[in-house]
Amino acid sequence: MEYAEPPDPILGVTEAYKRDTSPDKLNLGVGAYRTEELQPYMLEVVKKAERIMIDSEDNKEYLPIEGLADFNKATAELLLGKDNAAIREGRVTTLQSLSGTGSLRVGAAFIGKFLPGRTVYLSNPTWGNHKNIFADAGVEWKEYRYFDKATIGLDFEGMTADLEAAPDGSIAVLHGCAHNPTGVDPTREQWGAIADLCERKGHLPFFDVAYQGFASGSLDDDAWAPRFFANRGIEIMVAQSYSKNLGLYAERVGAINFVLADAAAAKRVLSQIKRIARALYSNPPVHGARIASTVISRPELFAEWNTEMDEMAGRIKSVRQLLYDELTKLEPSRDWSFVTRQIGMFSFTGLSPKQARTWLPGRCSLPCCNVENMTQKHHVYMTKDGRISLAGLSAAKTPALAAAIVDSFK
Ligand code: PMP
Repeated sequence: MEYAEPPDPILGVTEAYKRDTSPDKLNLGVGAYRTEELQPYMLEVVKKAERIMIDSEDNKEYLPIEGLADFNKATAELLLGKDNAAIREGRVTTLQSLSGTGSLRVGAAFIGKFLPGRTVYLSNPTWGNHKNIFADAGVEWKEYRYFDKATIGLDFEGMTADLEAAPDGSIAVLHGCAHNPTGVDPTREQWGAIADLCERKGHLPFFDVAYQGFASGSLDDDAWAPRFFANRGIEIMVAQSYSKNLGLYAERVGAINFVLADAAAAKRVLSQIKRIARALYSNPPVHGARIASTVISRPELFAEWNTEMDEMAGRIKSVRQLLYDELTKLEPSRDWSFVTRQIGMFSFTGLSPKQARTWLPGRCSLPCCNVENMTQKHHVYMTKDGRISLAGLSAAKTPALAAAIVDSFK
């Protein structure tokens, strides 16, 4: 092996953070929830579900290839709504997979195998791993415009023009809510126009739902977009993750869902994705899926989960507001309203690509290197695209972060 791969652009930030010995260091790179004390958080409802599981003495036999039946039923209902027509009609296929990433990977393999020659369109920018996932599955990907640097908002005209120009029958990867890394989502009216476009062009929407309930605090509000497409009769694919909303990061709990035109197609697709999963990892892990299905199916735990999710989302919203207030106090001449307009755990700070591109720890000392300035001078670790995770920020650290940002914009 002649060449070493550079560190992962997101997980590599944590590696660099760990090497920093400053007491002031702050890790806003990876998207994982922290308490106000900046500690990882284990949901109380997860502990309760695990106690129930210990008492029930479930075994650790292999799951079927498609995963835990109770989980698959619960997760499809959580995504689409309990009384969803597609579920009632048997038009939904669900396969438990290895969190959001593994679910996307199974979906990508399906596209590579059964939709050959179709191109996947990813938003520009997008979560960095999307490109790896489709590329490794041998699927060609291109980008559609998404982010407008001038407004630090959605480039809706660019997005729809690019999806319009894509060949009919392309695959459009859409973030279900809380777009990563920008925190910028289409409005409901804009979703309507995107659905019209996909229907007219025969595009297949592939939703990535990594933040259901974690973005707004409401499971229903955050699932609005995929439900809207499914209820209009558009066939969709949806990858789900329980990393953030149940804090099950390391348990790798998620699913790939297909909402299809009829029940026969749903059966055929299930048989094919089982074949794909069998060769990739054989069958999924049971522990996290049991936690999720226990929480979703027991009304008292489900209610408690909703409260905890609302608290996590609420803490992020409150540091968002605090950051906006601090930035405005320090630099009133600049419009910081994008911070509070953005949704979910991330804020896209609007660094120019030239400034962001130059982040090379220890090798770049230009004063214009904003992200580098954040890291080298202020010990704030973030991805080089200018994204910060507000889930890793405490109220106590917000004034220092605001000062670092203002200093780095100079
Ligand atoms: N999609 C997006 C947009 C994400 O932000 C993430 C998590 N960072 C994922 C998918 C998948 O994460 P996981 O594999 O932990 O579920």
